[in-house]
Amino acid sequence: MEDVASYFGCLVFNDEAMRLRLPKDVYRQLKKTVGEGKDLDLNIANSVAHAMKCWALENGATHYTHWFQPMTGITAEKHEAFITPAGGGRILMEFSGKELIKGEPDASSFPSGGIRATFEARGYTAWDPTSYAFIKDETLCIPTAYCSFSGEVLDKKTPLLRSMEAISEEAVRLLHLFGKEDVRRVITTVGAEQEYFLIDKKDYERRKDLIYTGRTLVGARSPRGQELDDHYFGALRTRVSAYMKDLDRELWKLGIYAKTSHNEAAPCQHELAPVFTTTNVAVDQNQVMMELMKKVADRHGFACLLHEKPFKGVNGSGKHNNWSLKTDTGVNLLEPGESPKDNAQFLLFLVAVIKAVDEYQDLLRVSVASAGNDQRLGGYEAPPAIISMFLGDELTEILEAIASGSAVTGRGRSQMKLGVHVLPPIPRDTTDRNRTSPFAFTGNKFEFRMLGSSFSVADPNTMLNTMVAASLADFYEELKDAKDLNQAVQDLVKRTWVEHRRIVFNGNNYAPEWVDEAAKRGLLNLKSSPEAYDTFLLQKNIDLLGRFGIFNSVEMHSRYEILNEIYSKTVHIEAVTLVDMVNKEIVPSVSRYAGALASSVQSRREAVKDLPCKAECGRIEALSRLCDSLVEATDRLQCLIDESASFKGSDLAHFCQRSILSQMDEVRKSADELELIMDRGQWPYPTYGEMFFYM
Ligand code: ADP
Ligand code: MG
Repeated sequence: MEDVASYFGCLVFNDEAMRLRLPKDVYRQLKKTVGEGKDLDLNIANSVAHAMKCWALENGATHYTHWFQPMTGITAEKHEAFITPAGGGRILMEFSGKELIKGEPDASSFPSGGIRATFEARGYTAWDPTSYAFIKDETLCIPTAYCSFSGEVLDKKTPLLRSMEAISEEAVRLLHLFGKEDVRRVITTVGAEQEYFLIDKKDYERRKDLIYTGRTLVGARSPRGQELDDHYFGALRTRVSAYMKDLDRELWKLGIYAKTSHNEAAPCQHELAPVFTTTNVAVDQNQVMMELMKKVADRHGFACLLHEKPFKGVNGSGKHNNWSLKTDTGVNLLEPGESPKDNAQFLLFLVAVIKAVDEYQDLLRVSVASAGNDQRLGGYEAPPAIISMFLGDELTEILEAIASGSAVTGRGRSQMKLGVHVLPPIPRDTTDRNRTSPFAFTGNKFEFRMLGSSFSVADPNTMLNTMVAASLADFYEELKDAKDLNQAVQDLVKRTWVEHRRIVFNGNNYAPEWVDEAAKRGLLNLKSSPEAYDTFLLQKNIDLLGRFGIFNSVEMHSRYEILNEIYSKTVHIEAVTLVDMVNKEIVPSVSRYAGALASSVQSRREAVKDLPCKAECGRIEALSRLCDSLVEATDRLQCLIDESASFKGSDLAHFCQRSILSQMDEVRKSADELELIMDRGQWPYPTYGEMFFYM
């Protein structure tokens, strides 16, 4: 047995490393500052920087970087060597407190949605001491937030940290009403389950579409798909499990507790679930995890695909964001309590989430909207684009009983009275829980299932924290002067439930009837990303994010620009890649094959006069006709790409969605038909079948 404990977290400057290496008073002060979310004193920073540097050098690091998360959704770093010249050709390995707490990346190439142009400001990064520094590729990575000098936020981390502050403050105030005076902070926790595909690197390298866009833009269905039997998996399993073991080890060194689960529904699809942790740490860990998944895959001769929909007709990949609230006294606020007193508090937090999700369906939808995820949401494999919540029968029944003042059926109890009755046990995470719901209560947490596999989990959690903070703040206002708290909570839970219960749907979200039902309930159905983005700047949303200081209006506008820009660029790259593949690879291959068939017919007719050669002639005709439609569709696509130059912003995004993507489907139709009748050896790409069954 391998001794995991001996190396778990060895590449992280975690609490234990700090305690061991920092002078006692420095350690205590650092903890205090972090605990209270205050700014770091420069003396403390110097001391921490020194200890961190020594630790990093001992562990093989030569460089350091402020590791940050610009709005591209991936991480960025600029490496600096620790080396400082010391005269006489000697060097010193230096790292000061200043360098620890603040950095100035040359950030001109990161999206800012016009902010930097307006303020002509450079950006700086600032250490987030609540997330541990770690070593990756011989570089000490210091998790940081990224802002412009005029203070506008340019990353995903800062708003997340602000939202965590907001929800903590509101939750604490409310808990104090319930007499929980000892609670000083409430932390949001997240466990992000990550799905991914592994294919053979050799296949990957033969496909421009995978290389440039992360998904296959052409590719006919494999004769064998999801109904793969175990026998077939034998050899594959050995290679994949070697990969998973290796990945686990790398993650453990970084203190990421990965418990790997095996195969998913689709062939070659797998899932990795870490143990949950504080949200900002979970965000960082998920980013590192995605990066390592790719890197380790490469070592094993695999390519790891994190795109939401690499293969048409095969289940795509998502990310499940498990979310809850925990007090600094160790209580999970979404855990139904065991005493009558606690059930009022639990139900209050529960309806706070229900109210938030109902009121800000659009913001949640925006937070998971991307060109990649559009290929998946609403397909009958992933949650639909309609946001609804699953509570399960027990909880729904309890809330209904509170609302109607009637008995909770089947439990022989009179009207459910908060603070008087104990809640019946809420079944947690049983196998029959609803897997089709976008936002499901799973016993002691909510699971938001609409995230795409390539997403940073920062945005969805920023939105979630902020909107729930708003509910809690409203509740506090209403309850703070209540004479009879129990009665006031009872009334509030009842009213909130009645106002927002339309968002709860315990049925099958994949059923076509749900679309009509949701429309009747007045729920939003924002089918595409550009449509979702258009709701981002609604006044109520600007108000919400402004109210808690998450984004000001300038930042909201800049984010809106960036969302549209990233969407349009993604579609543009896909379209250009597709045109290129057709012109440079597919059409030439088809021509060659048709030409070979024609020569074969000709030479056989020379041997036997008037030989019919029906099969070949039929093939030549079919190939030529399909090739004509393919080229026609591709030329049309090229025209649309040219035309797109006259649009910008949201109009461009809508144009890409409406015109370019649908024309890409047309191109694909002909290409996929061609693939089916082409000689295997002449088709320029590995087929779906070859990619799925690669041993
Ligand atoms: P599954 O969804 O496969 O049944 P689990 O219920 O064990 O798995 O957990 C799924 C994910 O939810 C894991 O990443 C786990 O760490 C996370 N999780 C469990 N409890 C919480 C919590 N209180 N807050 C946030 N995430 C949690
Ligand atoms: Mg799950």
